[in-house]
Amino acid sequence: MKVVIDGDSGFCFGVVHAIETAEKVLQGDGHLYCLGDIVHNNEEVRRLEGKGLQIINEAEFRELRDVRVLIRAHGEPPKTYALAAQNRIELVDATCQVVLKLQRDIAVSYRRMKPLDGQIVIYGKKGHAEVVGLLGQTNQEGLVVSSIGDLEQVDFSRPSVLYSQTTQSVEEYGKIIAEMRHRYQDAGGEALFECHDTICRRVANRARKIQEFAIQYDKVIFVSGEKSSNGLYLFDLCRQINPQSYFVSRLQQLDDIPFAPDDAVGICGATSTPMWLMQEVAAVLERK
Ligand code: SF4
Repeated sequence: MKVVIDGDSGFCFGVVHAIETAEKVLQGDGHLYCLGDIVHNNEEVRRLEGKGLQIINEAEFRELRDVRVLIRAHGEPPKTYALAAQNRIELVDATCQVVLKLQRDIAVSYRRMKPLDGQIVIYGKKGHAEVVGLLGQTNQEGLVVSSIGDLEQVDFSRPSVLYSQTTQSVEEYGKIIAEMRHRYQDAGGEALFECHDTICRRVANRARKIQEFAIQYDKVIFVSGEKSSNGLYLFDLCRQINPQSYFVSRLQQLDDIPFAPDDAVGICGATSTPMWLMQEVAAVLERK
């Protein structure tokens, strides 16, 4: 079996920064809390837990006092920073620079739109950690849309500013922009609509490249955590171009895939997939 790992797969710089930040603190202190999964990949989370990282949820965060807590690449809403200050929690802030810029831009637009009775619209996954952080910049007044159907929430007689979660599909965001523009035109208020391209370049470029990679192989093993938005999106792109694409979160799942001895297999993954995990997958396949 011929096995090739996609050189472009693996952690994005935002995730690399968050993990390196955590490891630096862990080296000195041996323990660090992290609010939510540091990365949507259980294997990598387990590796870091072995070094002393402790993942906590929001309820657990509220009970902490006088400790250090890592903010992951997805970022957090302002209320998390306020609570940390109130409870003497030192935040180790590893919010990705791309997300941080988006949070600031949304906050500025929110303040600008408020006196104009305008709306902030965020195209993203409801409840996703990054979206929660973005919505927090609008005092929870922003509208989250995940599909064209969700545009019913938007009042097309009032101004709106549209942003996207960083890990969304470029094509789907393009459809939302086109539909909103169309509805504003119909309402005679095209000038009331403003939109911003805020999909992370790392994600946008991967979409094209992953299809170029996936088409070259008999089978594609896409390695990713099940909770990764970026993983589900990129896997879908692989499957569109190569129906023999398989989503794998654990090595044991490889046993269920009907490999042929002369298969050429391509291994790739999400921006939250560690390279070491793809190498482990390759090692298992090479022994088959
Ligand atoms: S996908 Fe882009 S925005 Fe998200 S953490 Fe990675 S580099 Fe940052």
